[in-house]
Amino acid sequence: MFVSDILSQKGSEIFSVGPRSSVAEIAWQISDRRVGSLLVLDVDGSVAGIVSERDLVRALATHGREALVLEARQIMTREVVTCDPDDSIDEIMQIMTNGRFRHLPVVRRGELLGLVSIGDVVKARLEEARHETEALKAYIVAG
Ligand code: AMP
Repeated sequence: MFVSDILSQKGSEIFSVGPRSSVAEIAWQISDRRVGSLLVLDVDGSVAGIVSERDLVRALATHGREALVLEARQIMTREVVTCDPDDSIDEIMQIMTNGRFRHLPVVRRGELLGLVSIGDVVKARLEEARHETEALKAYIVAG
């Protein structure tokens, strides 16, 4: 299974904020959209960074209630690791594990195609395992 298979199931919708969006706005969007992270996009649509629940917690722990008025650009991770639609599920699991993050934007030739989360990866893995089990059962019954 490949990243493109995940995207064809979940679609290419990407939730994002601008670099000057406040932490309060980010928290509201993460909660409202039931996601764990948001991409930070510049006005030209290029990826400026990523903010996740972890960044919100870190900002709160460091700045207390003042954190709510900080802007995305002050708390985001700027070096965003991305993946390609042709990457395998195993490859992106490795990337997430090594990088200790749970979200990967999907980019091909500079074009943003979607975002996969660890939840999507686990779901794809479970589906794969279910298919394998069914194929094995069919093989045994046929034999
Ligand atoms: P997460 O586990 O995705 O909630 O993120 C943990 C930390 O890694 C946060 O500081 C995020 O900003 C950062 N992060 C999340 N996804 C990525 C990514 N694809 N590339 C680089 N950093 C990331």
